[in-house]
Amino acid sequence: MANTKTTPMMKQYQKIKDQYPDAFLFYRIGDFYELFNDDAVKGAQLLELTLTSRSHSAKHPIPMCGVPHRAIKNYIDIIIDHGYKAAICEQMEDPRLAKGMVKRGVIQLITPGTRTESGIENAKSNNYITALNYNHKNDRYGFAYADLSTGELKTSLLNNYNDILNEIVSLQSKEIVINDSIPDSMIQKFKQIGVMVSHQNDINIQSEMSYLTQDLKSSTEKAVVNRLLTYIIDTQKRSLSHLKRAVAYEPTHFLKLDHNSRYNLELINNIRTGKKAGTLLWLLDKTKTAMGGRKLKNWLERPLINKNQIKARQNAVGELLDHYYERSQIQDYLVKVYDLERLAGKVSFGSVNGRDLIQLKSSLNQIPKIRYVLNQLQPKALGSIYKSLDPVSEVSDLIQQSIIEEPPISITDGGVIKDGYNKQLDQYRDAMKNGKHWMANLETKERKATGINNLKIGYNHVFGYYIQVTKVNLNKVPRGRYQRKQTLTNAERFSTPELKEKEALIVEAQEKSKTLEYEIFTKIRNQIKTQIQRLQKLADAISSLDVIQSFANISEEYHFNKPTLTNKHDLKIVDGRHPVVEKVLGYQKYVPNDVIMPENNDILLITGPNMSGKSTYMRQLALIVILTQMGCFVPAKSAQMPIFDQIFTRIGAADNLIAGQSTFMVEMQESNDALQNATPNSLILFDEIGRGTATYDGMALAQAIIEYVHNKIHAKTLFSTHYHELTSLQDKLPRLKNVHVGATEKNGKLVFLHKVEPGSVDKSYGIHVAKLAGLPDSLLKRADQILKHLEVKGKNEANNRQGQRSSEKSDAKPRVKNLPESNRQSESGEQQLALFPDGNKQKSISK
Ligand code: ADP
Repeated sequence: MANTKTTPMMKQYQKIKDQYPDAFLFYRIGDFYELFNDDAVKGAQLLELTLTSRSHSAKHPIPMCGVPHRAIKNYIDIIIDHGYKAAICEQMEDPRLAKGMVKRGVIQLITPGTRTESGIENAKSNNYITALNYNHKNDRYGFAYADLSTGELKTSLLNNYNDILNEIVSLQSKEIVINDSIPDSMIQKFKQIGVMVSHQNDINIQSEMSYLTQDLKSSTEKAVVNRLLTYIIDTQKRSLSHLKRAVAYEPTHFLKLDHNSRYNLELINNIRTGKKAGTLLWLLDKTKTAMGGRKLKNWLERPLINKNQIKARQNAVGELLDHYYERSQIQDYLVKVYDLERLAGKVSFGSVNGRDLIQLKSSLNQIPKIRYVLNQLQPKALGSIYKSLDPVSEVSDLIQQSIIEEPPISITDGGVIKDGYNKQLDQYRDAMKNGKHWMANLETKERKATGINNLKIGYNHVFGYYIQVTKVNLNKVPRGRYQRKQTLTNAERFSTPELKEKEALIVEAQEKSKTLEYEIFTKIRNQIKTQIQRLQKLADAISSLDVIQSFANISEEYHFNKPTLTNKHDLKIVDGRHPVVEKVLGYQKYVPNDVIMPENNDILLITGPNMSGKSTYMRQLALIVILTQMGCFVPAKSAQMPIFDQIFTRIGAADNLIAGQSTFMVEMQESNDALQNATPNSLILFDEIGRGTATYDGMALAQAIIEYVHNKIHAKTLFSTHYHELTSLQDKLPRLKNVHVGATEKNGKLVFLHKVEPGSVDKSYGIHVAKLAGLPDSLLKRADQILKHLEVKGKNEANNRQGQRSSEKSDAKPRVKNLPESNRQSESGEQQLALFPDGNKQKSISK
């Protein structure tokens, strides 16, 4: 905005704003942060502020709005939640002492991925910022992520967009830092899923930070971490000494779950509400600390595939499960442990205050107690956690000696450091105390001296100490000694030379002690800073312990049992349950089900009416596998299974992240993903594949997919279908078995048994389900009529065909329905419908 008459301040503003074109610039003037120009217009709307303008008289008034500096945090939260950046521009010198324009500068650029203070509701989540580099030499992507509040820093090499998307979605990252090597098409996709894309082309790392990447072997990984660090340093402009050394990880070292599966299985977010309630995380989370909550989420994001690691967690859970008393003691202590990881981050940032240090101390004070309890149960599986519980007593002792028990929030107004910690500070405090004592005695002394009985000594911020005399008594004031300070309606305020002198002493002592306290505080903070790595290691151990106790708790409360891992390709779950559905329904009401898939059985083909529990049965298996590989116990009487490398799901009702694709297209893409990538060690869940298209192609595709999985992939697969024709595949495909979920009719009403039994059903009860859904009676009667008619017609057709076929081939089994054959033979859709009445085909009937 080119103003002809720009003031020096607006010049300064513009110069700074030019460096942050894509951020809201909060420009500090006195007690306010002001927004100008476009920022003000957009900001006023977003933040619900009144838009005013600067220089009313000028031809081009500058739009402006402001927020009080004390409330800035809330406003920034809103800006960030809307997917923008905020640059905080401070006054860099005391305006009273400044000569000319007050110096100003941006002290921090806050972005969605670098926000660290974001409320209690986020305590159990990480806020990850990610970065991406493309290396054309090896055609791979370097990927990195960090959480600024905890100091976590990880990196990996990824192969393609799908892998990248999986990482971003599972980390729930809101911001990705890239350079020009990333193609526009990919950038668009990031934006479509709501991820902010920030550009950082240069890499600029000071040598003292190079240790962060020293463990990395791949130069692509080094480059991406350094790019991320450069961006973080540029935006944060504050100490980052709590960042942990970058660790390279391999996504294939964990159970691979694509983002659709995570979403469909409702691991972390409820499909309907997007919230935590009703998810596996919600069920599992009995953690007592915020760190434990975050670690649980991480374990759920990345279940293990290493048998020893899984067993180590299982055994630790078992150990705590067996020691109820010790476990409940540990829980009591854990509740008192604050967020050590984020406290360490605050120490490093320099944003820690007295209260934080008291939290740190009381957290550390729990550690010896937890150690004692653990020691009592003679830890074996918990041994490594026990050994890592370092109480970092240097830090707790230091805080104990120096910081008072209930310090104020501010660290610049004094009253934080204990008496006796620093001699000089004690002297200032004595001076203040003596002075105040002297003031307290002054009232009595002056009343006596003047004979004014209602004479009062008072204090205010502007005028300091004073002697107050009401108007009627003014004649008694000793004129020479009393000097007038201030006149009120009914009284006058005075000072005396003696009072002034004492006051000066008090004020000086006050100022000096405040400054000194701040210095002492900074020193303490820096001393603690040297112990950050130990604090982080402790935080890691405590959070693992917290998740383990949470698992033990869950296992006890919901009757979970320890699964065994086999090296063979067989799976046997007895009386398995879907833990979340069970919790919602109540323990008594859930019908447990077995999943028995011996080595020679790869596919279970599941039939049953709508609403009978097919999809619940499939999800139940997936959750049991995930729980097992997280190291938790499982909702089953017993469970034995191999370790899976990947889980693929194609389960209905998933709407797609990237809009604009038809449901059927998504269905086929997800199926394709499984068919292309599954190995014999994978688990595939296909729920009603093919229902998104016309009956014949749907059925044909479904059969072809089953055959493909059966003959080429050999992954353990659950396939639910409403195409009853497919059940005949059992006769053709030796590794496939039919199971069905039973339902019975009682007095014309449908009763779901939710019990999975061997064999198939050939009735789908579509009309019954429609009745449950409350469709009009007359309509249901009509549907019944049509169905009966079609059934009769269908039977006749079938008999005719059967006759034909028997004459062609005498040993044909009467019940076997071979799909392609029947397709070829049927003349019209109606005949097919008549043979296989099904709720899903009602649409065609009404034609
Ligand atoms: P389908 O996939 O066959 O249409 P769902 O799996 O969606 O059916 O299950 C429908 C409803 O039946 C679920 O919401 C649940 O309330 C109930 N249900 C499913 N399985 C069970 C079970 N084993 N025990 C008790 N209720 C169940």
